[in-house]
Amino acid sequence: MEQRKQRSWAEPFKIKMVELVKMTSYEDRKAALEAAGYNTFLLRSRDVYIDLLTDSGTSAMSDHQWAGMMLGDEAYAGSENFYHLEETIQKYYGYKYIVPTHQGRAAEHIISQIMIKKGDVIPGNMYFTTTRLHQELAGGIFIDVIIDEAHDPDNEHPFKGDIDLGKLQKVVETYGASRIPYVCVATAVNMAGGQPISLSNLKAVREFTNLHGIPIIHDMTRVAENAYFIKSREPGYADKSISDIVIEICSLTDGATMSAKKDALVNIGGFLALNDYSVFEKARNMVVVYEGLHTYGGLAGRDMEALAIGITESVEENHIRARVGQVLYLGNKLIASGIPIVKPIGSHGVFLNAKKFLPHLTQDMYPAQSLAAAIYLDSGVRTMERGIVSAGRNKETGENNNPNLELVRLTIPRRVYTQAHMDVVAESIEEVYSNRESINGLKMIYEPEYLRFFQARFEKL
Ligand SMILES: *Cc1c(COP(=O)(O)O)cnc(C)c1O
Repeated sequence: MEQRKQRSWAEPFKIKMVELVKMTSYEDRKAALEAAGYNTFLLRSRDVYIDLLTDSGTSAMSDHQWAGMMLGDEAYAGSENFYHLEETIQKYYGYKYIVPTHQGRAAEHIISQIMIKKGDVIPGNMYFTTTRLHQELAGGIFIDVIIDEAHDPDNEHPFKGDIDLGKLQKVVETYGASRIPYVCVATAVNMAGGQPISLSNLKAVREFTNLHGIPIIHDMTRVAENAYFIKSREPGYADKSISDIVIEICSLTDGATMSAKKDALVNIGGFLALNDYSVFEKARNMVVVYEGLHTYGGLAGRDMEALAIGITESVEENHIRARVGQVLYLGNKLIASGIPIVKPIGSHGVFLNAKKFLPHLTQDMYPAQSLAAAIYLDSGVRTMERGIVSAGRNKETGENNNPNLELVRLTIPRRVYTQAHMDVVAESIEEVYSNRESINGLKMIYEPEYLRFFQARFEKL
C-alpha cells in the first residue's frame, strides 16, 4: 500500500459512557475557593468543572480493564491476578521480582527503609515530594544532580531530565560511595515539568555507578511517556517501538518504584520491582507489615487485574502518541497566545511559569498558589501549585526551600477530556493572563508538618 501522511493525534478510542460535570457560576466558585483556603487541593470535586489537579488515579480505564475487574480473584493468598500482574511486569518492564503496593509512595517507603541508613545521601534527577520525604524519614538526605537546564523554565534542552555526571561525581567524591545506597533516577521528571531523561545519559549514569558499585532505583511512574520523547527526539530511536525503549530503560536500572496511577492507567495501585533477590526478600517481609500479604500488597485482586491490562495498553504506540499529543496541543495553544510556560512542553501536563506570569509578586507571596486560585475562580478549571509551597522546608535548618521553578501545573488525565475541553482551558488561562495585574498574593495561615501543599490554607493579602 502507498505510504500515507500521518494525520493529527486523534484519540485511538471512542466514548462508551459519559460522566456529567457541573458547570458553576462565579459566585459558587468564589465561595468554594474561600472555603478551601485558596488551596485547590481542598476544593470539593463537585465544585470543579475541568479537573487538571493531577493525572494521578484520574485516568479513564478501557472496557478491557473494566472487564478485567470482573475477573478479580479475591483470594487472600495466591490470587491469579497477582501472577498475571507479575508476568506482565516481567514482560513489559523486565524486572525479576515484584511486590505490589497500594500506590507509589508505599513502594518508596519500603525501598527507603530497606536501603537507606542514617547519614546516607541519595542523588536524584530532581526531587519528588513523596520520594524525598521517604528518603528523609529513613535518615537520608536527597541531593539534586539534575542538569542545570532543568531549573531554567525557558531552556529548550530536549532532555531536561538528564543527570549531570559532574554533579554525581562530586557527590561520590564528597561522601564516598559507601554512603550512597542508590541513585534515584526518575523518567519524565515530574517536578521539572514532565521532562525526559535520554537513553545516552542513562547509559552513562549506569557506567559510572557500575564503577562505584552503586545501584540505580528507577522512579518509573511515567516511563512510557519518557519513551515517547526518546523515540521522537533521541537519534537512533525513531524506528524502535515504545515497548522496546521502555524495556531498554528498565534494563539499565536495578529496581523501580511505580505509581501505577499515572502511566499504567488505573485509579489505584503501585509496586516495587527488583532484580536483587536479597532486597526483594526484605521487601516481601516488610510489605506484610505495612500493606498486606505479598501477593496483594494493599490491592484487591480486581485492581491488580486492571493494572496488568493497563500496563499493556500504556506502551501501545497509538495510545502514547495521543496521550502526549493532547498535552502538546494545549501547550502549543498557550505558547501561541504568549503565555509563559515551561519549555519544552512536558509529557503529562503544561506548566505555567508563575514568576513570569505574575512578575509583580515576590516568591513569598506564593505566585503559583495565587495563580492556581485565580484560574479556578475564572473558569472552574482546577490546577495545582508546584513551587515554594510544594518545595517545603529544609530538613536541617527549617527554612523555606526557595525553588527556582515556581509553577502551576495543568495536568492532563489520560483518556478523560476532549480537545474542546483543552480549548476552554486555554481560553480561561488567556483571560486570566490579560487581567494578571489584578491578582494579589496570598499568605499562609495554616502549615501542616508534612507535604504541606496538600492541606495548607491561605488568605488573600
Ligand atoms: C505520583 C508520584 C509518586 C507517588 O506515587 P503515589 O501513587 O501518589 O503514592 C512518586 N513519584 C512520582 C514521579 C510521581 O509522579
